[in-house]
Amino acid sequence: MYGAGDVRVENVPDPVIQQPTDAVVRIVRACVCGSDLHPYHSMTESSTGRRMGHELIAVVEETGADVTTVRPGDFVVVPFVYSDNTCVFCREGFQTSCQHGGFYGNGRVGGLQAERALIPQADGTLVVVPGVDPDAASDSLLASLLTLSDVYLTGYHAAHLARVRPGQTVTVVGDGAVGLSAVLAARTLGAERIILMGRHTDRTDLGVEFGATDVVAERGAEGVARVMDLTDGLGSHVVIEAVGHMPAYEQSYGVVRPGGVISRVGVPQYENAPVGFASLFGKNITLTGGVAPVRAYLEEAIPLVLDGTIEPGRVFDRIMPLADAPAAYAAMDSREALKVMLTV
Ligand SMILES: [Zn+2]
Repeated sequence: MYGAGDVRVENVPDPVIQQPTDAVVRIVRACVCGSDLHPYHSMTESSTGRRMGHELIAVVEETGADVTTVRPGDFVVVPFVYSDNTCVFCREGFQTSCQHGGFYGNGRVGGLQAERALIPQADGTLVVVPGVDPDAASDSLLASLLTLSDVYLTGYHAAHLARVRPGQTVTVVGDGAVGLSAVLAARTLGAERIILMGRHTDRTDLGVEFGATDVVAERGAEGVARVMDLTDGLGSHVVIEAVGHMPAYEQSYGVVRPGGVISRVGVPQYENAPVGFASLFGKNITLTGGVAPVRAYLEEAIPLVLDGTIEPGRVFDRIMPLADAPAAYAAMDSREALKVMLTV
């Protein structure tokens, strides 16, 4: 990406192993993330550009001398942050804060919207998908596995941090792929009532199939009033905010129930937000959420996808070749596509 709206596909040198803990992988499927649209709107023009992409399922091609848990030929999920999975923060379940980890597209590490990618800390980062031949697998299975790289497990993280329990009412703000994933995750954790706030009916229809019991299309004060009506004026035990803009946060504290939890996984596009009496303090609200350490949840989630318990890959509504990545960004930006899977 060279600036707002300016995505190009370029040939660059193939990645090579640089450190004994690295691996090189080849793409099976990648995709465009809703969070990629933030720089797509706002990135300052750059002469060097920025390598994009952080969601990938792949086959290991080569490993550094110290890598022991994956070998060439393994089919793996690549979490959107790399991590050693052994440091103190990783052991506490926050691999996104790994002392030896980092994000793709920075420094020596390229992006994952690519034919091949360098994966640092391969032992800690990569998780093998057992018993699946990616060349023979269906697109729907590959799509669901790809969501474990970010989007589904980001939604899951929001529900997990909010400690969603059976019988609770959960409101999800946002009908993008993360919001829909949060609906599915809240359902798997036993939420009784799930109110989805979104106004794109093709998306909210999928949300209903994922487990939403109510859809609220109204926004702002009207949306808040509607959710309060639906909950007999009590509000929602948990609100998952999956947008990242201030109005979504305002809706969240508008509909949360006293003693409830707001869990944010939309990347905030603001630095300052109210926490005072009228927003959080007066109702004893817990504010949680953040960058999702999907690595923490991968081993549990892979079998659920393989046995068909969950089918989060339904958030993908289009497949395009990597060479058409600029069109994939445009299709998501214009809301023609919910989420685009990239292949070669
Ligand atoms: Zn770590």
